[in-house]
Amino acid sequence: MISSEERYDNIPYIRCGRSGLKLPQISLGLWHNFGGVDTFENARAVALRAFDLGITHFDLANNYGPPPGSAEETFGKILERDLKAHRDELVISSKAGYLMWPGPYGEWGSRKNLVASLDQSLKRMGLEYVDIFYSHRPDPETPLEETMGALDQIVRSGKALYAGISSYNPDRTKRAADILRSLGTPCLIHQPSYSMFNRWVEEGLLRLLEEEGIGCIVFSPLAQGLLTDRYLDGIPSDSRAAKPHGFLKPNAITGEKLDRVRKLNALAEARGQKLAQMAIAWVLRHRAVTSALVGASSVTQIEECVAATENLGFTDDELHAIDIILSTSL
Ligand code: NDP
Repeated sequence: MISSEERYDNIPYIRCGRSGLKLPQISLGLWHNFGGVDTFENARAVALRAFDLGITHFDLANNYGPPPGSAEETFGKILERDLKAHRDELVISSKAGYLMWPGPYGEWGSRKNLVASLDQSLKRMGLEYVDIFYSHRPDPETPLEETMGALDQIVRSGKALYAGISSYNPDRTKRAADILRSLGTPCLIHQPSYSMFNRWVEEGLLRLLEEEGIGCIVFSPLAQGLLTDRYLDGIPSDSRAAKPHGFLKPNAITGEKLDRVRKLNALAEARGQKLAQMAIAWVLRHRAVTSALVGASSVTQIEECVAATENLGFTDDELHAIDIILSTSL
């Protein structure tokens, strides 16, 4: 493959917390649209277009598919065929924590699960190391010292360059950060959900991450496609909500949500943007947010998402209008 010479002129690269690593302000996640059930050529086209537009960060997890593991296999194929020569230009992440194999070791946060799962992920992707390895979710039973100790061990073994955590609340994040720092492997990054429809990180987590010097990559900034023009005229047959394995269920697309989406859509139009672009700009308005981690089912979608960086600013009036749309009871 021949990559565009201008690919690094499109997206700002932001320092991830107080680390040496910079991430693109828009990153691509492979949770949906890259599984064994999806068309390989489309997945390949989206990933390569993303790379060509300057997206250097690709986010995976052991269980992405379906079937679980197949997104890593798809990405491994794309790496082998097209991106092998560019490995050092890429930041590839994976995670362990959700159910991956039967028995007591196939999920959660034990050292046993994390180390074995990463070995499987590396095989599926044909990699010697990932750039970031995450504890995918907090484990209420395993001592946090063990889970963080496993991340430290993994980094020291050279199978990951940096450690991250996902969906940890502020209290657990603080404790995880302290343990990792004491082990000499500082927490690079936190991956929480965040969108106009899901603002939990504003209640303490973002402030904590800034204080701790931890980067933040927010997942599902488009609320899985709801915060776009996708569902304004019903549920398209090729959309996530129409797919049996899609995580977005049709009953989540309520009249109330659509009413807010229509109002937000009008506001985005007034800014000369698509709603998807305004939704991305909105999560990036926080200094603590390093990157917006989007998904895409087509080349056009990833092109539109990247173009969000052309207009990231908001006036106070626009932010106020968004707050009103989100908070007014309908
Ligand atoms: P988004 O909120 O960005 O939703 C992506 C979907 O939005 C696409 O599949 C597409 O829907 C639609 N879309 C994207 N761009 C456009 C556009 N320009 N116009 C119209 N519709 C658009 O993120 P995801 O929910 O996909 O999550 C992103 C990533 O975050 C995942 O791949 C994964 O890496 C990570 N993640 C992490 C989790 C964790 O626990 N740590 C949990 C969930 C996600 P359609 O397919 O219908 O076309």
